[in-house]
Amino acid sequence: MDEVFSVRTVIAASYFIAAILFIFGLKRMSSPVTARGGIVWAGAGMVVATLVTFLYPGMTNYILMMIAIGLGGILAWVSGKRVAMTDMPQMIALYNGMGGGSAAAIAAVELFGGEEHGAIFGILAVAGGMIGAVSFSGSLIAFGKLQGLIKKSMRFSGQQVVNLLLLAATVITAGVIVAQHGEPDFVVLFFVMALILGVTMTLPIGGADMPVVISLYNALTGLAVAFEGFVLQNPAMIIAGTVVGAAGTLLTQLMAKAMNRSLGNVLFSGFGEQSAAGGTVSGSMKPIEASDVAVMMAFANKVLIVPGYGMAVAQAQHKVWELTKILRERGVDVKFAIHPVAGRMPGHMNVLLAEAGVPYDIIYDQDEINSEFATADVALIIGANDVVNPVARTDPSSPIFGMPILNADQAKNVIVIKRGQGAGFSGIENALFYLDQTRMLYGDGQEVAGKLIHEIKQL
Ligand code: NDP
Repeated sequence: MDEVFSVRTVIAASYFIAAILFIFGLKRMSSPVTARGGIVWAGAGMVVATLVTFLYPGMTNYILMMIAIGLGGILAWVSGKRVAMTDMPQMIALYNGMGGGSAAAIAAVELFGGEEHGAIFGILAVAGGMIGAVSFSGSLIAFGKLQGLIKKSMRFSGQQVVNLLLLAATVITAGVIVAQHGEPDFVVLFFVMALILGVTMTLPIGGADMPVVISLYNALTGLAVAFEGFVLQNPAMIIAGTVVGAAGTLLTQLMAKAMNRSLGNVLFSGFGEQSAAGGTVSGSMKPIEASDVAVMMAFANKVLIVPGYGMAVAQAQHKVWELTKILRERGVDVKFAIHPVAGRMPGHMNVLLAEAGVPYDIIYDQDEINSEFATADVALIIGANDVVNPVARTDPSSPIFGMPILNADQAKNVIVIKRGQGAGFSGIENALFYLDQTRMLYGDGQEVAGKLIHEIKQL
């Protein structure tokens, strides 16, 4: 009796430590300076929570547990090492789906058990099971879209009514399961419908909006894990699930706000697929040579660099930092202007610049830097497009109308580095590229940054 009691005390204390590690880890992730440490803290919390499971009184499946941990650990380690920065959103979709699937699997085990635990237990189990299953299949579709495996958004008229009916049928089946204490046929039907719902909810959403959807599913997975934590009476799951649910919800809101769109618009509008939307832009794009840009920047007082998705594609961050260093050595005031949704995931540019060693005190958020474009000699746009498109301010018919943008158009000279005529994420023309003070420096971001470094060194 005493031994069981003391084991339970160790388990409870370990979960408490794990919860503290999760929360402090998350706190440290709020700044790029401490973020790496935050990941280690949260990871340590996860190791504690996983190891302590082995101590549970009555636990028998040690071999299976070790095989599962080994397989999962190896797969995650290898794929984490190999993944390219530009493929990170789909990797997160996949991991997130696994979390939702695990929550649904726990619910399935409990519901198929068919034991009478009372209505509250049943309600929590089906709620976590349903949310987890939707998040699982929805995240897999999001992965497929981002990976280019699913190219089209499948839509048909009345789709939302069908989804609503499917949702209603799933909820009713959940009610029957709770009332009947887990009738197996209904449990199967329930999970099949919830999985289909995740697919049909996600298929019509444009690939372009997947990062926001993944963030939403992340919040849902957290919620599902928290519900199943109550079912298993596992405090670590309750705390971790709640923290993930809250963080995912805040992130989803933040991303939608930075694009000036409602969540409803993200889920139901098919953004990024109406490339014909928005007015046309008149004028012409004027090319420029790297040697001329080198002179312009080397003799400037202030240069503001705006990185975007193309910098990630080109992996140009190291060259861009080298370019910054030689300009600073010449006395040029160089700062980075970061839009909240530049790239393809929140903080994308900050992570890349941090990786290259750019000091945090020359990296500025949109609100801090926007007033400085008016006094900049050069705004150097590298692989950014939508986040500097002035039609967001002026053209109500544009899909990005209302999105706050960086005021690059207010700089004396604007240099745009991109490979050709490729549109941005929203698929529309960029009025900035046609302005009198704008010049296009064509080429791959990394190559062009290399040329600029070479030219400036010659001066
Ligand atoms: P965009 O996707 O608007 O534009 C990227 C540009 O980079 C393209 O015009 C492309 O032109 C250029 N490019 C691509 N590859 C290279 C390369 N190798 N070298 C140089 N240039 C290259 O990027 P932004 O960062 O400006 O905008 C992000 C967009 O993503 C916004 O619309 C935002 O709403 C959206 N989004 C962001 C999310 C986030 O969390 N950050 C989440 C979901 C959506 P070209 O092909 O001619 O080279």
